[in-house]
Amino acid sequence: MSERPVHAPLTQFPVVDDRLVVGGRLPRELAALAGGTPFYAYDRSAIAARLAALRGALPPDVHLHYAVKANPMPAVVGAMRPLVDGFDVASLGELRVALAAGMPPGEISFAGPGKTERELEGAIAAGITINLESAGELERAAHAAERLGRVPHVAVRVNPDFELKSSGMKMTGGAKPFGIDAEQVPAVLARIGALGCDFRGFHIFSGSQNLRPDSLVEAQNLTFELALRLAEAAPGPVRLLNIGGGFGIPYFPGEQPLDLAPVAGNLAAQLPGVRERLGPVEVVIELGRYLVGEAGAYFCKVIDRKESRGRTFLVTDGGLHHHLAASGNFGQVLRKNYPVVAAERVRGGPREEVTVVGPLCTPLDLLADRMELGHCEPGDLVCVLQSGAYGYTASPHRFLGHPPPGEILV
Ligand SMILES: *Cc1c(COP(=O)(O)O)cnc(C)c1O
Repeated sequence: MSERPVHAPLTQFPVVDDRLVVGGRLPRELAALAGGTPFYAYDRSAIAARLAALRGALPPDVHLHYAVKANPMPAVVGAMRPLVDGFDVASLGELRVALAAGMPPGEISFAGPGKTERELEGAIAAGITINLESAGELERAAHAAERLGRVPHVAVRVNPDFELKSSGMKMTGGAKPFGIDAEQVPAVLARIGALGCDFRGFHIFSGSQNLRPDSLVEAQNLTFELALRLAEAAPGPVRLLNIGGGFGIPYFPGEQPLDLAPVAGNLAAQLPGVRERLGPVEVVIELGRYLVGEAGAYFCKVIDRKESRGRTFLVTDGGLHHHLAASGNFGQVLRKNYPVVAAERVRGGPREEVTVVGPLCTPLDLLADRMELGHCEPGDLVCVLQSGAYGYTASPHRFLGHPPPGEILV
């Protein structure tokens, strides 16, 4: 018999009487708190535990930033505020959430192509660091700063000349809309000096959702090399070096959690040399999904149970419109199942192979394709794990006009 790959054992939530416990509460209690199904629940103690484990593993002088776009719920960002050293935002909306959470502007950076005049002015008025995505953006930032009578804090986001291998989403190497090609960077650095902007340093982000320590280590080493090379053309000291992140979490059968030890060991080995060359630079790792992805769960309720030509379908009140990624339509090439469980029959009881779908009239609205779950009847709760990042705000809530899901931090 061939072994089917299975999901990595997920231990972030306790199971009590075979029921999942998130933030100390059972599924029915969570549903009552959320005002009914479907809803996302995020566990603040799981977020804190993740940060503590990460701090324990990494060298103490590495700064950790939270990439707010992974989960911008204000309560989550507020809970993250004392746990990290800074926030990375990708819009004026996220910037407002970051500031409202109390993060000092000096610890906030703003990346993303196509920043509008309004966004640049907002960033400059707030006093945060703008990660420049193009030569044109530098000119627009300088103009916006002039209008406000301020000096803009800028860092250069570099599009490196290497790729992060086996990354879920490659964002560098070759022609990209993100960052400034490494070979164009010296000219932009000279222009930053000529315009009198406050130069903070470099931002080099080479990919996302990577579970292979060897490729993360390789990317970090190439990033340090590149930053040291570019620093020679810098108009001032490099005070900030954001080396990206890309730490992945196991979503699919056969995937294992990232082994941090080689990554941490390599950082500890590299940092003294980097500091010797650059001086007292703040080295930042920015992470989104790694900090919140495993701390969130999406719950929905079984509305109907039906058989069709030998297959059992559970039709729920949740689906693609709330959780695009779990449906397989957020950047997956081949659809694979997220870890899904019957929320009140997690491990025991009669088990069966079912397909869990949502209420939308499209075959794309699939939450679990032929998975073994505890037996469910209408009224029972189904839970999609690994749902704390790129869930709620990365889904097309308006599609088909159903109500949006609830969202609670417990
Ligand atoms: C999206 C993004 C992140 C976060 O990526 P994760 O995979 O969630 O860690 C970090 N930095 C930049 C520049 C991003 O665009």
